[in-house]
Amino acid sequence: MASRESAEAKVELLPPGAPLTELPGIGPKVAERLALSRISTLADLLGFFPRRYRELRELDAPEDSALAQLVRLRGTVRGTRLAFLPGRRAMVTVEFAAGDGTPFSAAFFNQPWLRKTYKAGDARIVEGELAKKGTRYSIKQPKILAASLQPVGEVQLRYAEIEGVAAARLVQWIGILLDRTDWTKFALPPLPLLLREHDADLHTLVLAMHRPASVAEHERARTHFALREAVALFRAVEVARRNREQRPGLPCAVDAALDLRIRGRLPFVLTDDQEAAVQQLRERLKGKSPMGVLLQGDVGTGKTAVAVATALAVLARGHQVAFLAPTELLAEQHYALVRRWLAESGVRVELVTGSQKPADKRAQFLRLAKPGPQFVFGTHVLFSSGVEFAQLGLVVIDEQHRFGVDQRMALIQKGQDPHVLVMTATPIPRTLALTMFGDLDVVTLRQRPPGRRIVRAFHVATEAFARALRSITRAVARRGRVFVVCPAVGEDGEKGGAVRVHEALQKRFSCRLVHGRLPTRERQEALDAFRDGRCDVLIGTTVLEVGVDVAEAVLMVVVAADRFGIATLHQLRGRVGRGRRRGLCLLCGPKTERITALCRTTDGFLLAEEDLRIRGSGELLGTQQSGFSELRALDPVEDFELLMRARAAVKGTS
Ligand code: ADP
Ligand code: MG
Repeated sequence: MASRESAEAKVELLPPGAPLTELPGIGPKVAERLALSRISTLADLLGFFPRRYRELRELDAPEDSALAQLVRLRGTVRGTRLAFLPGRRAMVTVEFAAGDGTPFSAAFFNQPWLRKTYKAGDARIVEGELAKKGTRYSIKQPKILAASLQPVGEVQLRYAEIEGVAAARLVQWIGILLDRTDWTKFALPPLPLLLREHDADLHTLVLAMHRPASVAEHERARTHFALREAVALFRAVEVARRNREQRPGLPCAVDAALDLRIRGRLPFVLTDDQEAAVQQLRERLKGKSPMGVLLQGDVGTGKTAVAVATALAVLARGHQVAFLAPTELLAEQHYALVRRWLAESGVRVELVTGSQKPADKRAQFLRLAKPGPQFVFGTHVLFSSGVEFAQLGLVVIDEQHRFGVDQRMALIQKGQDPHVLVMTATPIPRTLALTMFGDLDVVTLRQRPPGRRIVRAFHVATEAFARALRSITRAVARRGRVFVVCPAVGEDGEKGGAVRVHEALQKRFSCRLVHGRLPTRERQEALDAFRDGRCDVLIGTTVLEVGVDVAEAVLMVVVAADRFGIATLHQLRGRVGRGRRRGLCLLCGPKTERITALCRTTDGFLLAEEDLRIRGSGELLGTQQSGFSELRALDPVEDFELLMRARAAVKGTS
């Protein structure tokens, strides 16, 4: 290998296990940021594979057949234009003429100085996605390169964004590493026998990921790494399942007398689906090994009652139950609800939050460490705060989609082999369920309790916000209550922020404001006021997404709805129309693909599929929040066949 010898002559080779700071230009600050994405060593950085790659089409002139494709055009600069968009954003448009004279343009945002960079007559190469408006061609997300530059290859790569680290620098560092890594010290474990044919020289493979000569070469290498990731996933799943099966459970059988007592605590008769789910869960609670179940059901299908019925079976044996919610607000809601349901029972209901006084906390920890039936609600703080349980019998994780994959793992490992019930309102496609939850049995709720239909959503253009105001006025006049959800708190007075919307609506309605930065007591006070009807309109952020249960709520208004995801918006509309009256959801802002989908259907399963199509699988997996580094090459949705092969190979060798 010529490159290696010449590199050796000049510079020292770097061992792949070395820390990032060995690389010129990476200081402790940047290293810290990279570590958040689970990149700590040079090998990790080499394994930070591009998320997307696309073939580049070299064209002489723009043409309709290449629309929406990635193209490279040679052109001569005709001139530049500077314009200002709302929000004081500057836009510089560079006008070009292609070789045959066809005009096209490339626009840049917030870089006004670019106007001076390109002069009429300059020859340049422009790369990006070809678009057309009317008869005019343009290049979206353009890259302008010197005309003298030799093309670097036909494949364009896109890396995932890392906060606080410029993409260009990342590419630069990876480039240095490709040349300076000591490949003799770099080895990965062999693939399972059944997949051995895919093994290849690591250096070649990594080069093909970051510097591919062709799409085919890249795809071969990607398949290799995707297989590795799939194998690792299934091995982890197998280990988790086997561990669970081999550990002794805490059998909690439910006899007729206990069953009666449990039902007596629930304020309603279970639906058939809830009933079936409770029976399935009880079957597993009796077993020799701990239960592991994923309960999925759309918003409003009544998962909480199923969880509580299950918890009561465990509590009746004198064990503790931990109920984990993704937000403090939701934890508080569940806590308040269950305290009502279990009033004057032998069960102590507790709430653990991050904002307790140290003295209160110590006293509470002492109580929790005592044996006896205790139902404890909290966020993940519950497990990071050092709470010790006497005998933790069941962990319930609510709204799993709001937690990251690794958070879930960490939580489950904390317990002393408790039963585990994971709940999610985001229906998980089969492939994802196989990988993320392969160790869990899936139980599904499809039916909704009587009178709990999901309300329809309508789009309201930003300019037509007055329509939303009229709807609020009408709802309030009929003694209904209204949620208004904003994308941000906006303490600095941001337009569309909850603070500012609250100020505006306060003049016309009796309003309260609730968001994550308020102290627990104020937040609770606002919610109580809303629930008791002392105010008509509750303004807040997505803290309102889950768990705020008010029967009189008839209208949900979402401000700047384009800034929310499908799952969130669907959850939000699940907050209204829970009583006898018909509800309504208004999604304000520009009409996006997501908003159109929500207005079209109320079926959570259909929406989840649509969501997957629009966004890809990354967000559904929760990789955004958690930096789940194991999936750099694998796409659990696209790579279905590959997943199945990896699964067979893992099962074959274990
Ligand atoms: P999820 O968590 O699945 O979105 P919840 O558990 O919050 O749904 O239940 C939604 C609403 O339906 C709650 O107000 C709850 O009290 C009510 N509910 C649940 N089960 C029943 C039932 N069997 N009959 C009547 N109401 C129910
Ligand atoms: Mg719920």
